[in-house]
Amino acid sequence: APGGTEVEKLVVRWLGELISYSKTAHGLLTSGGSMANLTALLIASRRKLGKETARTGLWNGGPPITIYTSDEVHMSIPKAADILGFGRDHVRMIRCDDRARMNVHELRERIQADLTNGLKPFCIVASAGTVNTGAVDPLKEIAAVAREFDLWLHVDGAYGAPAALDARKKSLFAGLELADSVSLDPHKWLYVPVDAGCLLFRDEATAKAAF
Ligand SMILES: *Cc1c(COP(=O)(O)O)cnc(C)c1O
Repeated sequence: APGGTEVEKLVVRWLGELISYSKTAHGLLTSGGSMANLTALLIASRRKLGKETARTGLWNGGPPITIYTSDEVHMSIPKAADILGFGRDHVRMIRCDDRARMNVHELRERIQADLTNGLKPFCIVASAGTVNTGAVDPLKEIAAVAREFDLWLHVDGAYGAPAALDARKKSLFAGLELADSVSLDPHKWLYVPVDAGCLLFRDEATAKAAF
């Protein structure tokens, strides 16, 4: 059904524009935010571990790979770490400040400590609209940490990302366009009446290479 494929491509481009991704961005529709998050973590890990893991699996004698997120993150992230075989213990739940946003100082310290201990950090998951309070993590600062340590930055905007369209709230989302991938749920704030999630990635080539 090439028609369906064309519609998906167009919708994905629209959703990318909505979060200020450039025209080179791409993505795919999923059954929901949980599948979008799971797919993002798989792509992120492939980038760090190489395509070899498709053959060897994670049990090739290397150190555990670690994910960094806040303790306000949606449960689909630790769940994806379980399903993908990274293990929930390797999801570092960074504490939040008094506005329920990830503490970037602690984030950097935790990454550094894990590196010192021989672990292999590969991904930071920031939230753009947490489930409990709607808080948006300091995306720009977190993007700088991701760049510093060469980590994939995924932003879970499943429910909150469309708020970037509100001029009064736009500043909260500064840095969203720096994320390597963003998940966004059309079945939430965009009122699509059937299950529909979306994973957007800034660089189509990286995502393609992962598979
Ligand atoms: C709803 C939500 C998810 C999970 O999405 P589903 O569509 O229910 O799979 C993930 N993250 C956040 C922040 C959400 O609000």
